[in-house]
Amino acid sequence: MSEPVLVTCPACASINRIPKAKLGAGPKCGRCKAPLFQGQPVEVDETAFNRHVSRDSLPVVADFWANWCGPCHAMAPAFKSAAAELEPHVRLLKVDTEAEPRLAGRFAIRSIPTLIAFRNGNEIARVAGAMDRTRLLEWVRRVLAD
Ligand code: ZN
Repeated sequence: MSEPVLVTCPACASINRIPKAKLGAGPKCGRCKAPLFQGQPVEVDETAFNRHVSRDSLPVVADFWANWCGPCHAMAPAFKSAAAELEPHVRLLKVDTEAEPRLAGRFAIRSIPTLIAFRNGNEIARVAGAMDRTRLLEWVRRVLAD
């Protein structure tokens, strides 16, 4: 009945199979015992990004940002708060475009912050420009509802 959900561990990037009914019950990584949901976005390198996006059953929303970008910093608290709100139903990632230029190139990121929503490894929507928490949550829920 309850299909297992694949969740990449934010700490060790191993893939966990969690019964859907247990998603909200504070599941921990079978390998490193870290909580699979920590109420905050996961900062990822290219390898961890690929694993989350291609393997997770959960939809993924990635924030492409850079340290020099003022609007990125302005949006960071809203994005973090959105992670706490949307977990365990959506995985939020942060991609530092300076540390991971190949990812920024692969997705042709032209302005930051850019948010990209993925489902089953495919980009389903993107939006550029900083948003407050309310607009951010509204955008994520709308694009994932389609
Ligand atoms: Zn782990």
